[in-house]
Amino acid sequence: MTSLSLKGVPVVDAHMHPWSNDAVLGRDPDGFLDRITMMGMCLLSSGLVERVGASHLREMTDATPLAMTMARRLADHLGCEPTREALSAARHAAYSADPAAYLSGLWTDCGLAGLVCDEGYPQPPIDMARFRQEAQVPVHRVFRIEPAITALRETATTYDELEDALAAACEEAAAADAVAFKTVLAYRTGLDVVETSASDARAAFGRWRAAGWPESRTDAKPVRDRLLHRVFAVAKQTDRPVHIHCGGGDAEIVLAHARAQDLVPFLTAHLDQPVVLIHSGQPWLAEGAYVAQILPRVYLELSITMPWSSLALDQLLELLLGVAPTNKVLYGSDESSDPEVLWLSAQVGREALERVLRRGIRRRWLDRDQARKIGEGVLGGNVLRLHGLA
Ligand SMILES: [Zn+2]
Repeated sequence: MTSLSLKGVPVVDAHMHPWSNDAVLGRDPDGFLDRITMMGMCLLSSGLVERVGASHLREMTDATPLAMTMARRLADHLGCEPTREALSAARHAAYSADPAAYLSGLWTDCGLAGLVCDEGYPQPPIDMARFRQEAQVPVHRVFRIEPAITALRETATTYDELEDALAAACEEAAAADAVAFKTVLAYRTGLDVVETSASDARAAFGRWRAAGWPESRTDAKPVRDRLLHRVFAVAKQTDRPVHIHCGGGDAEIVLAHARAQDLVPFLTAHLDQPVVLIHSGQPWLAEGAYVAQILPRVYLELSITMPWSSLALDQLLELLLGVAPTNKVLYGSDESSDPEVLWLSAQVGREALERVLRRGIRRRWLDRDQARKIGEGVLGGNVLRLHGLA
């Protein structure tokens, strides 16, 4: 009796980025498959495509299982041949003819029921009111602190002014519609956040500003570290989880200080604050899983593993679900280029989760009801509950 099925279970994506239909349709239709691989996406977000060369990128795309399955599945959905040319043309035609119908057709097909949306990428930001109209599915906004810091430091004359202005911006976002705060400190000064005194932060702020705001560990880090403690205070007061990018990223990541272990002292100091490790610390997944295993309010978000680990998806999912309490594991895609990534990721994520849970039943770790409950939680229930959206 291992015929567990998660068909029809609603998927709520815990981490993705907004788009505008005009911008998506304005991109080269033939580059679609190149944009949706991990390689293409990172080259795009760090502005490095030119240096790599389009033909080299294309060869890598064609050799990547994720692009292969996207081509085949989307061609099936659109009723065209799975070649690059036929798919580009059919996709562009269907999307541009009626964006709302095209997107809702994808969401119905994959069971997508909601988005928890990190508005911090792309920059300049996508208009959220417009995105909510275009998305064709409920959108819950996540307020990212780094763009606010960049804007507010220009007018702040002291560290204290910056800290108070950032706290006010977070409070305002929570009072409006933000369901969580997000930091990408791993892209700035690293995740090894330490206790920093007010006087050290004030002195560092002066040096940081005089130097023209470079991301140094000597001047920027004390400021950003102390600001994060204040953001956590606001998160506690407004009852919002904090999303922390944890793990690798594009070429701009501070890779030496991007691991879950870097965060442990800080997280231990904020033991009662719900925190989502966005990407679960990937590629150091075992470390992220361990942190969620020992720290009660640390959650794991599955994007990057989903959908980009392709052939390794089941194995990695097994690791995360086997180590951390399963009610703290949140499905996410990190779609940040083209909306079809949400659709593909929801499909392959649901399929992989089914296979992993069926194995769990066969090996007598779980019964069917327990497996189904885990599946429903991971695909959407856990993220809704954590963000007070259930
Ligand atoms: Zn992201």
